[in-house]
Amino acid sequence: MNLINFRFDLDAQGIATLLWDMPGRSMNVITEQVMDELEAVIGHVGAQTAIKGCVIMSGKDAFSGGADLGMLEASGRRYVEMVQTQGQEAAMAAFFDGSRRLSLLYRKLETSGKPWVAAIDGTCLGGAFELALACHQRIVTDNPKTRVGLPEIKVGLFPGAGGTQRVARLMQTGEALQMLFKGEQLRPQAAKAMGLVHAIVPRDELLASAKEWIAAGNKGLAPWDDPKFRAPSGRVFSPAGMMVWPAANAIYRRETQDNYPAAKAILHAVYEGLQLPMDLALKVESRWFAHILRSQEARAMIRSLFVSMGELNKGARRPKGEPQARIGKVGIIGAGFMGASIAYVAALNGVDVVLIDRTLEAADKGKAHSHKLMSEQIAKGRAKTAERDSLLARIAPSDDYAGLGDCDLVIEAVFEDRNVKAEAIHKAQAAMRPGTIFASNTSTLPITSLAQNAATPENVIGLHFFSPVERMMLVEVILGEKTGDRALATALDFVRLLRKTPIVVNDSRGFYANRCVLNYVREGHLMFAEGVPPAMIENVARMAGMPVGPLSLNDEVALDLAWRILQATKADLGAQAIDAQQERLLDDLVNRHGRLGRKNAKGFYDYPDKGGKSLWPGLADLQSVKADPDALNIEDMKLRFLVTQALEAARTVEEGVITDPREADVGSILGFGFAPFTGGTLSYIDGMGVPEFVLLCDRLAKAYGPRFTPTELLIDMAMKHETFYGRFGARKAAA
Ligand code: NAD
Repeated sequence: MNLINFRFDLDAQGIATLLWDMPGRSMNVITEQVMDELEAVIGHVGAQTAIKGCVIMSGKDAFSGGADLGMLEASGRRYVEMVQTQGQEAAMAAFFDGSRRLSLLYRKLETSGKPWVAAIDGTCLGGAFELALACHQRIVTDNPKTRVGLPEIKVGLFPGAGGTQRVARLMQTGEALQMLFKGEQLRPQAAKAMGLVHAIVPRDELLASAKEWIAAGNKGLAPWDDPKFRAPSGRVFSPAGMMVWPAANAIYRRETQDNYPAAKAILHAVYEGLQLPMDLALKVESRWFAHILRSQEARAMIRSLFVSMGELNKGARRPKGEPQARIGKVGIIGAGFMGASIAYVAALNGVDVVLIDRTLEAADKGKAHSHKLMSEQIAKGRAKTAERDSLLARIAPSDDYAGLGDCDLVIEAVFEDRNVKAEAIHKAQAAMRPGTIFASNTSTLPITSLAQNAATPENVIGLHFFSPVERMMLVEVILGEKTGDRALATALDFVRLLRKTPIVVNDSRGFYANRCVLNYVREGHLMFAEGVPPAMIENVARMAGMPVGPLSLNDEVALDLAWRILQATKADLGAQAIDAQQERLLDDLVNRHGRLGRKNAKGFYDYPDKGGKSLWPGLADLQSVKADPDALNIEDMKLRFLVTQALEAARTVEEGVITDPREADVGSILGFGFAPFTGGTLSYIDGMGVPEFVLLCDRLAKAYGPRFTPTELLIDMAMKHETFYGRFGARKAAA
């Protein structure tokens, strides 16, 4: 056998080892070539009587990340081309055969008659774990990095190489569905408790124990190929089955609002598959897989959440030729809510921090935040006391700017006040080494104007973190007019060090994310003013695909902040720049009723000490008109929530704030949870087609107000039948 991606060895006992170690890649992935080679090996092992069985393991740190999503994306493109050249039927047949190749290959392995053992160290995910599921024995190491799982659902797909069928035959149906829906990466103990793996061994015993299992004479027969096999939950049509399936449907609806076809396909594949013998069940799964692989949702999610996010993480926007920044120590000015959290994530990733506030007491309080977060991790068994100690040792609280003298990067997170920020910049400049990059975490003040306080504006940049910093994966990097390439490269290198995803935007009021979010919140406020019951506003927003309703979101951010932003916009741009109804509502809530949001436990919701939040009953008195809930157009409400954000994203492109559609899309999903199934704000427009989007905007503008009027750019693109990715796509941005 001529193998490139594997090494095949046979020992004196007749036990083969297939070592997966792809050249030139840090991680094994399933490609066409990998499938070719695996096919040859399975045939060889099956045909040679001298071979007793085969162990498959990895020659790398991880087992494998699964199928090459780029390959799956390309198969979708080939399908579209083939429809044009050879017609729908031929294209569909070819697409179906191609998309089920892996499934048939794994089934061939499973029924080859020889025992196969998956010996797993490190991560083993997606298509790779489906390979392991087709093996007759699964042994994992106790390495803290070992994880198994089927995360396909996170990019709009589902496990289509037998995963849904094998998991549903290994576990109770309810648990299997949960596992497939959540797509979690499981630690060895959890996977063993769920019956997904057979044994956990120390790393240096992995190969030996795998070979031992074969040497002991175990058969290469999957449980479901034994005629006596019964699924753990019994038959679908049984009293036990009736306990599971109606509830499963309801949970699917609650969790997805019917927006994720892949989740629905999981339900179908498991429900239908469990009523069939394995080979037919796999065929049913393949049909659903081919259907999902061609879906708009899968294509959009793979592009934004896998391809584009990967490219941005690897520095797609990093200026070429700038040397890698060495960031061993950062200075953070302002140890409040944000500064303390940024200090935590920096220290967590091995960076030393000088955390400065006006008093040592305030700086100490900022450091205590890290103590609290680490202690919570320890209580959950996710960190050790020694890790907390070493993290805390990296944070030096101080009230003296002199500590900035040996920092490689300085980030300010002081009050959102122009004068306070100017003072911080002046004091920092006097202490910093010449040439050190200075970043501001401002959420609203233009970077260009802050940079005017600096002697070297080319070294000033915006680094806009989102709250809570430890959970939010996005950082908005903002370029002032004079920001230089070295500042950008340093900022991107720092974001990478923190393992977060950056988007790079040009200076503007609210930058990118907050502009879109504020529109979303405003739409909720305007519906409230129209008399829509608040609970309906919140529920319909979630039906549209948003993770939290606009009123809840506003409570989290603080109602007085929304009020202040409105007042600042009015002062700078005039009364016509804001909506009078929205101003009246916020004035009522904040100034008349003292309702500031979650921070004082009084906002659109009440937040009692005990029990969950509930909508404030007094809201009814703030609505001068009441809409008839039965007469409301729910579909229009859903559209209003998404269109107002997408339209703002289109405006940021028109104004040159966003220059690369990938950043708008990835930023919208990671930054504010914009309906992930759409692929993000601009994919939402491209997905329906710009001409259709313009028509929709026109209709909404007539019905609900001129804020929905389509922009000139959109009208121009509609006339030319362009898309955002076509007109502003990655290659064009790089040119
Ligand atoms: P905060 O009030 O919690 O913290 C500000 C801290 O800065 C306080 O501890 C204060 O003592 C300190 N400070 C003030 N002047 C100082 C000076 N001259 N030198 C040293 N320390 C000084 O505020 P925050 O919510 O952490 O916001 C900080 C910045 O982050 C603001 O620019 C804000 O717009 C931005 N931001 C906030 C959020 C958010 O969700 N709160 C999100 C993104 C960005």
